[in-house]
Amino acid sequence: MRCLKCTSLEDRVVDTRVNKDGTSIRRRRECLKCGHRYTTTEEILREGLTVLKRDGRREEFNRVKMLSGISRACEKRPVDVEQLRMLVTDVTTLLQDKYDDEIPSREIGEEIMRKLREIDKVAYVRFASVYKDFRDINEFMLEISRMDAPGA
Ligand SMILES: [Zn+2]
Repeated sequence: MRCLKCTSLEDRVVDTRVNKDGTSIRRRRECLKCGHRYTTTEEILREGLTVLKRDGRREEFNRVKMLSGISRACEKRPVDVEQLRMLVTDVTTLLQDKYDDEIPSREIGEEIMRKLREIDKVAYVRFASVYKDFRDINEFMLEISRMDAPGA
């Protein structure tokens, strides 16, 4: 890295921190020439990760969008941000292993619901009702009755 103060290229790393979901690293650096300290970040870029939508269109996989959608379902529920971050990471990793670079949007929804169900049932129903766009109440009731079944 080039020091912004003296333009020297020699530095040493004094501190390294990985963010919670392991996708970025912050490094505190010190210029060996003038002692100026600064911070750099590294991010893992998932190249070419796309979502294949129901209508056949493709869009860029968006982790933030996914997280905000789930957060909405978890409003006023005893679920913390940390749990949601973990959920997003788990789902992303799992689907990437399964589909490589093109993930069907249906699979993302299904996988989120599977995980959300283990965390909070109310949040799960909220998410499911939006996601599945229930057309009739029977389908919705069936979903709820399944949730209360033993071992579910
Ligand atoms: Zn310097």
